[in-house]
Amino acid sequence: MRVEILGSAAGGGFPQWNCNCRNCHSQRAGTLRAKSRTQTQVAVSNDGVAWFLLNASPDLRLQIEKTPVLQPRDGLRDSPISGVLLTSADIDQIAGLLSLRELQSFRVYCTASLRRILREDNSVFGMLNRIPQQVCWTDIKPGQSFPLLTVAGDDSGICCEVFSLAERYPMYVAPDRVARLSREEALLGVLLTADSGGRLAYLPAVPAINERLLQLLETAEVILFDGTFWSDDELIRVQGCGATARQMGHVPVTGPEGSLRALAGLQRPRKIFLHVNNTNPMLDESGAEYAEIRAAGWELAEDGWQLDL
Ligand SMILES: [Zn+2]
Repeated sequence: MRVEILGSAAGGGFPQWNCNCRNCHSQRAGTLRAKSRTQTQVAVSNDGVAWFLLNASPDLRLQIEKTPVLQPRDGLRDSPISGVLLTSADIDQIAGLLSLRELQSFRVYCTASLRRILREDNSVFGMLNRIPQQVCWTDIKPGQSFPLLTVAGDDSGICCEVFSLAERYPMYVAPDRVARLSREEALLGVLLTADSGGRLAYLPAVPAINERLLQLLETAEVILFDGTFWSDDELIRVQGCGATARQMGHVPVTGPEGSLRALAGLQRPRKIFLHVNNTNPMLDESGAEYAEIRAAGWELAEDGWQLDL
């Protein structure tokens, strides 16, 4: 299975358009030893022909143009993108769908709750179904395993397993709508297993780590894990106010229950942080924080990385 990391930053990207924090300011000034990053986007393929997007980032069009395997091959209209798997209704995970609206056929895999939010509450996504056979929506449920199918309906050679990670929907979903949605369908974690045996865990947002999650992660060869915030109070420190990392649904990298410590016992997988917020000090490759994650055996995903599992 080939994995393309097209984007590795959290919402807003790095630098973020309206941010003047130390990281963003120094990156623009060229004085930071760091890589600029687009918003998190990953694509996977078992055969290099049929590709599947894990979520759809607001930077998707630019990311496709930087990735030849995702560009049209034959005919006037064509795309190697067979499907999109959505793990949440966060704007950073769905906005890119609107960049795929040019009457192209592909599949969308998401929970029934997400489908209702997108198709029943937000009419703009109706552009994905202007004509018959445009986008084919498939409902998925936490705890379910299913094959990712090509547009023609053939097995792509990648089996997908999804599980529930949280019960909270994005702020734009009205409370009366939330009351009518399945709580366990709000946020999914993903395990992808290829015919070749390669196994990838994809978790760009993890609100808490428990024993069950650790057991699942130990079965993977590679984990792409929530690296949004270094510390629980990171945004409060930078802005002087705001929410904690946990209140925003992200376990921080550090601290007693942070991911560095909680995942330290994992023996098997290659551990890679992605979905890194622009305020996170580990973006500075000359800093102590970056040295700390590297010493702990973690890598920091960069746009353009390719992995073979
Ligand atoms: Zn910033």
